[in-house]
Formats: sequence, structure tokens, C-alpha cells
Amino acid sequence: MRKGLSKIPAGFICIFISLFCMSAFAKDRVYQADVVVVGAGGSGLAASVSAAEHGAKVITLEKREIAGGTTSFAEGLFAIGTDETRVASVDISVDDAFDHSMEFNHWRANAPLVRKFIQESPNTINWLHGFGLTFEPWNMAPTEPRVWHVVGHYKNMEHGAAYVQAMLDKCEELGVKIMYETPATELIIEKGVIKGVIAQDSRGNKVIVNAKAVVLATGGFSENNEIIAKYTRYEPGSVFPTVPLGKTGEGFKMALQAGAVLDDAGMLLMMHPGSYGPGFKPFGDLDTMTTQPLLWVNKYGERIIDDKMIGSLMVSANAIYRQDGHYVWSIWDEDTINYYKTKGLDTGLGVIVKAGTKISNTVKEIEDCIKAGSKNVAMADSLEELAKQMEMDPKSLKATVDRYNKMKADNEDVDFGTPARLMKYIKKSKFYAVKVFPSSFISLGGPQINTKMQVMTKNNKPVQGLYSVGCDAGGVHSDTYTLWTSGAGFSFAATSGRIAGADAADFAKK
Ligand SMILES: Cc1cc2nc3c(=O)[nH]c(=O)nc-3n(C[C@H](O)[C@H](O)[C@H](O)COP(=O)(O)OP(=O)(O)OC[C@H]3O[C@@H](n4cnc5c(N)ncnc54)[C@H](O)[C@@H]3O)c2cc1C
Repeated sequence: MRKGLSKIPAGFICIFISLFCMSAFAKDRVYQADVVVVGAGGSGLAASVSAAEHGAKVITLEKREIAGGTTSFAEGLFAIGTDETRVASVDISVDDAFDHSMEFNHWRANAPLVRKFIQESPNTINWLHGFGLTFEPWNMAPTEPRVWHVVGHYKNMEHGAAYVQAMLDKCEELGVKIMYETPATELIIEKGVIKGVIAQDSRGNKVIVNAKAVVLATGGFSENNEIIAKYTRYEPGSVFPTVPLGKTGEGFKMALQAGAVLDDAGMLLMMHPGSYGPGFKPFGDLDTMTTQPLLWVNKYGERIIDDKMIGSLMVSANAIYRQDGHYVWSIWDEDTINYYKTKGLDTGLGVIVKAGTKISNTVKEIEDCIKAGSKNVAMADSLEELAKQMEMDPKSLKATVDRYNKMKADNEDVDFGTPARLMKYIKKSKFYAVKVFPSSFISLGGPQINTKMQVMTKNNKPVQGLYSVGCDAGGVHSDTYTLWTSGAGFSFAATSGRIAGADAADFAKK
């Protein structure tokens, strides 16, 4: 036997022993709960806390080794009628916000759900005050109202990370069991009745959580190219995720497993202009240039947008997406470099990089990208050379720039109506450019839900005990989200989680 084994390569023996150990020790782990929440991000943590507050025994499954998901990167929540908006003299009624949202969505959104979300938004902020969170109302773009409640400091954190920490503290206090590195894969459904969830832990063990109610809160499908190809209008791979976190649509698939119908508002990506590639620094000075009101041209050297719309990130990203190749170039000159050095940015990146911030590293960051071999930046002494680097017809680019400069000099943009004071001449060498792509914050859309956040099936019937929240739910947004209700993603995650958690706890008690 010894002899025999010695002839087998050592690596093979190791693999054999590991497989033997895994199968010998891998066994089903079975848990009981009233409510199982799938995903410990913004909506899942809200659902967990809310269900536990309503007396449920809660188990929360999280795919990653840490909680928070996308919500850790968010900054603020939409709300009207709060103490914060009152002090900031923002007086917007539920009817105003509802009308705006529904018109923006061409009435393709789920009207009762949208209205419920808006009505409940101040209650969510009050609920979060109870966990020690504070808020300051901001506007994400200069043209929009101050309804974006940016999360203040909690412990040593701020923004979404502060929210996540406060919710984790509350989960601990209320006895919510969070199981990390335990992605859920399917629902347990017996004769049409929800019985729990199946997951897998990091050792390969099957995890079975038996529960009467399940809340799906996995953060959407923005990183699943199969779902994007099958259900959306985007070419898979043409939109890169802002922060890749493994949002691969398990919540969506589980809702379908239970017979969910898709909400007619559509399956979408909420995008913003961004750049990437070798040497590129996220949230660096060059990154901020992708959202400034500057000349944007497509691959043919044609101007494509009113510059003042560029700061409305979600809509300007749509304008990029519709271009051949799904990209544009943002172009500027040496004077603009000096303008942003001395006067500061026209548009911020949320409150992470505020409007007015003076930036001085743009050229260095372009040089770093070039050194790293990036083709997504260009820098040249002449427009002709710049066009060559961008693989664009130099004559076409020159004609566009000449026309742009003339309209600036004439004080009237007859092509797109950009206020001339915003336009910046492109005259003084050096000339610079960065390639701007659509990047996805999150996915929008999914199963139809009702105002309790229950998943709906054919014939207007809810699946008893099954809820979809945050980015796992459809119906709130159609096309993209409106900055007029800045913070609607984060706010819907918290609000839908809060409502679903309470209802799930009540349902489980029956
Ligand atoms: C950079 C950035 C900034 C943003 N800023 C704002 C903002 O200021 N205001 C705003 O309104 N919106 C903002 N958004 C959007 C906002 O973050 C989201 O709308 C919201 O946080 C989504 O919450 P969620 O609970 O649906 O998803 P997430 O918070 O992403 O949570 C999903 C969780 O589920 C886990 N998970 C995934 N699959 C499984 C599985 N199979 N089993 C178990 N767990 C799983 C994930 O790991 C994650 O923890 C921003 C997004 C980005 C990327």
C-alpha cells in the first residue's frame, strides 16, 4: 500500500485528501428563523433590524466577508418633510415629489409604490435618528432641491458606512444573527409556500435556513452579463460597474423561482460618466474631469450634449451610451487646467469631492495613465496630434472646436443652448482629453412588488412571505433615477427594508 502510494504524485494525493476531508466533513447546517434576510447591505440591514424590532427571530445571510454592499459607498438619502428640510427651508409636498417622479418616469413606474416611498421617507429618517444617525440636506446638482440627506458621523465613519455601522450595532443589540460568506442560492418552496432559503458557506457546506418569511436584498444584477443580455437594452460588457461587489442577481433569480412577474418600469442600469484603465485613479482629479461641463465629442469628433447637462450624471451617461461604441471624449486646454486649479470644480462628485474643490493633479494623472499604457487619455501640443491619439478625424475635431469657440465668443450656443459663461475656450496648448464611459452605480428594476414590498405573481397575487427590497425590487424607477429626488436609491433601500421587515415579522407570527 505504501509502495503503491509512493508512485502517485504528491500533488494528486493532497487533492485526494482535501476532497476526502471536504466530503467527509461537509454537511448540511440547518437553522430555524422567523425571517431570513438575504443580503446585509442597505436594504437587508434595514429589513433585519425592522423585523427584529417587531419581535422576529432573524437570520441574515451575506455573500461577502463584510456587510454593507453598495450602501457603504452611498452618501445620502432622499426625504421630504423632515426636521432637516424644515430647517433648510425646503418646502416640498408629497404631491410635488410624487408628480415630479411620475412625470419623470412617464407614468411607467408603480404609482402606489412611488407614493408610499415618498410618504414614508420622513419616517425612515426619523427611524434612523433613533439609531444615533444625523443628516445634513444637500443637493446633488445645482439645479435640484435640497432633499439629499447626507449621513453625518457615527463612531469614526460617515455617509453610507456610518449607516451600515449603526445598523450592525442595532442588529447586535436585537440579536440578529448575520452569517458572512454564506451566499444564498435558492428558495425553499413547498407546494407554493415559502419555507426558507438554501445557501452555501465558505467551506462548501449546504446551509438551510427554515423560515416562514424571506426578504430578498441582494443589491440587484448589475454584474451579471447574462441577465443584462436577456432582460435589458444594454450590450453586456459595455457598462462597467463603479464598484464591483459581486452583485450577480441571485435575489432576482429567486424571485423568478417563486413565479414573480417583472415590473413594467423596465430592467435598467443607473449609470454615470466615468473612466477607467491602466494608471487611472478612482475619485482622482482626472476622474472629476469626466463630470465637468466641458466639450464632449463622440468618436466622429461631433459634439453630443449641452455641457450643463453633464453634471446631471444619470442622464448624461444615457447620452454617452447612445453613441457609437458607447463612449465620448471630454476635451479641454491649458487655460481650463488653470481655471480648475484656481477657481475649483464646477461640479462635485457627490459630497466626496465637493464642487469648488481646487484640483491640481490632472496633468500628472494623465501622465501616469500614459506611462501605464492607457489609451483612454490624450495630451498634445496641437489639436491635430490630440485627434491622432484619440483615433479621430482631425478635420472633424477641428471643425467642432472652431465652432464651439466661435459660439463662446458670440455668447450664444445655438447648437445645444449651453449658457456661454459655462463654456470654456479650447485654444491654448497643451490640449487634453479623457475617454468617458458609462459606468453603473446599480441596477434598477426587477420583480413587481406591492406597497408591503411583497413579490407579485400573475393575476395580481402576492407571494405570501416573500419580499424584494432595495435594488432587488422593480417599479420605482424607469429609464434612470431623477436627481430631483437625489438619494432615492439609498432611501428606497432603507424604506423598503424597514417596511418589508415589519410585515415579514408580522406574517411569520401568524
Ligand atoms: C459609489 C456609489 C455611490 C452611491 N451614492 C448614492 C447616494 O448618495 N444616494 C443614493 O440614493 N444612492 C446612491 N447609490 C446607490 C445606492 O448605494 C443603492 O441604491 C443602495 O445602496 C442599494 O442598496 P441594496 O440594499 O439594494 O444593495 P447593497 O447595499 O449593495 O446590498 C446588497 C447586499 O447583498 C449581498 N449579496 C449579494 N448577493 C447575495 C447572495 N446571493 N446571498 C447573500 N448576500 C448577497 C451583497 O454582498 C451586499 O452586501 C450609490 C451607489 C454607488 C455605487
